[in-house]
Amino acid sequence: MTMVSAGPLTSHPNLWPPFTQIRSAAPQQRIRAGRGALLYPENSDAPLIDAISSWWVTLHGHGHPVLAEAIASQAHQLEQVIFADFCHEPAEKLAGRLSHHTGLERLFFSDNGSTAVEVAIKIACQWWFNRGEARHQIVAFDGAYHGDTFGAMAVGERNLFSAPFNDKLFPVARVPWPATWWHDETVQDREQATLDLLDSCLEVPTAAVILEPLLQGAGGMSMVRPAFLQQVQQRVSRAGALLIADEVLTGFGRCGDWFASKRAGIQPDLMALSKGLTGGCLPMGVTMASKTIFEGFLGGEPQDTFWHGHSFTANPLGCAAANASLDLLEASPESFLGFEQRHRPHLEDLASHPRLQRPRLLGTVAAFDLNVEGCSGYLNPAGPTVKRLAMEQGVFLRPLGQVVYLMPPLCITEEQLHQCYAVLRNALDQL
Ligand SMILES: *Cc1c(COP(=O)(O)O)cnc(C)c1O
Repeated sequence: MTMVSAGPLTSHPNLWPPFTQIRSAAPQQRIRAGRGALLYPENSDAPLIDAISSWWVTLHGHGHPVLAEAIASQAHQLEQVIFADFCHEPAEKLAGRLSHHTGLERLFFSDNGSTAVEVAIKIACQWWFNRGEARHQIVAFDGAYHGDTFGAMAVGERNLFSAPFNDKLFPVARVPWPATWWHDETVQDREQATLDLLDSCLEVPTAAVILEPLLQGAGGMSMVRPAFLQQVQQRVSRAGALLIADEVLTGFGRCGDWFASKRAGIQPDLMALSKGLTGGCLPMGVTMASKTIFEGFLGGEPQDTFWHGHSFTANPLGCAAANASLDLLEASPESFLGFEQRHRPHLEDLASHPRLQRPRLLGTVAAFDLNVEGCSGYLNPAGPTVKRLAMEQGVFLRPLGQVVYLMPPLCITEEQLHQCYAVLRNALDQL
């Protein structure tokens, strides 16, 4: 163990920032305001373009007046109430709307993406338990990221981040994720290899298969083809297992449709949602469950109950923000349905750059790998270099190792989007 002297390592002596190597990272910058796609740092007149929607949550842009007003007026009406005994209109309205949009009848509230995944896993396991059927295996994909709580970590990829806890994580069967990109000629073979492996995994009695439909986010903006997911769904159904879609990132237009499952043509039994749910304004997670799943909890015995809940379940402010965000999405679906076409010419233009490989695009997400020497994965030093170069030119990016991506809020202007790509080209030139 090395002792380090205390110094000004963080922006504030009492704060501990997330996902941050304290010794080597630059201290956080103070932000005083956000409007649309822009963030305004405290000690600078130059705004930054928030090209990754503040960790993928800010859907309609910062400081949106409709969302601000919905939250403010709900705060004056009812800010919080215990949801086991009481209900309220914002929650009922949200449940009806999300049930309509997802095709899943029941909504269970929690606080964030990780808890939405935890709830989905617990519901799946208990559904089989309640039926008295011994199905214990859970199948997940290589490269998956499902959150940072223990259950969510267990189904996620075991890596640097999970290493201190690996002995505490329940075992999961794994199959490869056949990621694809423009002009990829190997994908068909890799898809078939995964499907064959999945078939053999599913010979073991399986409770559930969990996946991030179409797009693995934290795993490196890795995209798969809709037809592959349809094949997965067929096999999962044939094996009688449940399908859990983790749409914490992909939901609410991110993937160019309401949900990635919809775009992929699959219908999961359980769906975890968070990030864009409240338009990115307030922390909230929900787990959507099919009618059949819900009915598995209707036996009258105490052990048939889903004994799970959070203090802030169905927080009315979060529900109000979520309803307002749905109002915005329903009023102009072209904002997300047409986003891919906004990225496309820019990415096509950039794709021939020698420092770029594996360009890919899905809805609001454009990504590529840096063509550089060094380790692959999260610790590749080229990522921080691109981040620094972009920041110097007014664009905030946060590459995942050698994977660089844009995931802007829907409100980004053509000019701002153009600037993001110009800055990327410039950064690639300097590598
Ligand atoms: C971000 C994310 C999570 C975890 O959500 P938190 O709100 O950060 O706990 C889970 N699954 C996916 C796919 C995510 O992108």
